[in-house]
Amino acid sequence: MEKILIRQIMFQEMREELKNSGNLEADAEMYMKFMKSHCCYEAIPTSCKLVIFDTTLQVKKAFFALVANGLRAAPLWDSKTQRFVGMLTITDFINILHRYYRSPLVQMNELERHQIGTWRDVYLQYSNHCLHSIAPDASLFDAIYSLLRYKIHRLPVIDPVSGNVLHILTHKRILKFLHIFYSTQKDTVPKPCFMQKTIQDVGIGTFRNIATVQQTASVYDALSVFVERRVSALPVVNEQGKVVALYSRFDVINLAAQKTYNNLNMSMQEAIRRRCCFIEGVIKCLPDETLETVIDRIIKAEVHRLVLVDKEDVCRGIISLSDLLQAMVLSPAGIDALLAS
Ligand code: AMP
Repeated sequence: MEKILIRQIMFQEMREELKNSGNLEADAEMYMKFMKSHCCYEAIPTSCKLVIFDTTLQVKKAFFALVANGLRAAPLWDSKTQRFVGMLTITDFINILHRYYRSPLVQMNELERHQIGTWRDVYLQYSNHCLHSIAPDASLFDAIYSLLRYKIHRLPVIDPVSGNVLHILTHKRILKFLHIFYSTQKDTVPKPCFMQKTIQDVGIGTFRNIATVQQTASVYDALSVFVERRVSALPVVNEQGKVVALYSRFDVINLAAQKTYNNLNMSMQEAIRRRCCFIEGVIKCLPDETLETVIDRIIKAEVHRLVLVDKEDVCRGIISLSDLLQAMVLSPAGIDALLAS
């Protein structure tokens, strides 16, 4: 409590400094200081659903349970060692499908029979995954650093005393916390000047080598791109290169929801047509729109990224929450290019 109070006082002083000086450097550092002066606990909503899986649960049941609970990830509990050992996310589902899929006629026995622990034994031979977590009194700055440094989208907040998982922090939640704070204080706290610059002037996002998928390509092709490029969504394009849809990692869970994971030869067009309740749509932006407009749109739509298009709707880039947090919070602290692979 005392820590929170000290942080609030620090932040108040910073606002005064900014208001009085009109200093450009203070302007650029505003969001970084905000994140340093607020802790993870403050960003946790008052109520939310959390599901934990024992590592002896079958992977297939675990993915069905994620679907049934409308969740995207769950911490994993190892009852032998009595500790949390990792997270099960849609990335695991993608990796399992990509690894074991042969054809619509061959059943994926591994998906049918494996326990989560067995899958991790197979998978962890090839990658050194440990559980990245954060304490509730750590700063949001540290949380952002971990999300970007380890290229993860879910960061469990673990109480060091009880060992319980309190919440799973995401880029979306952190940006929303910032947004709520600024919208309630908008009469007293000025927004930094760079918010009025256009996307092409600030250069936030990825503008080259964009991973896309043709609408005639198969779902398996899309999964291969997810595995190879580690991107979180693919603009789906037609023959003229125009963006017609967006296929995100989250959409892959529809294959579990609809039990269609045995036919990954299905075209993207078909997969998108079958997408029912989880439609994210293509939320786009143009290069001459301001950073403020882009941030407002991404928060309002509750999406993780916008597709940057030109006037002909041809894909020119991706602006994801990782890019925004990197530019608004980490770069002003002198931490650059955590996103480069
Ligand atoms: P994300 O995992 O979506 O937060 O994005 C991590 C980084 O990858 C960011 O710099 C994004 O701009 C970039 N990125 C996301 N999707 C794509 C894509 N389809 N092609 C190329 N880069 C991407």
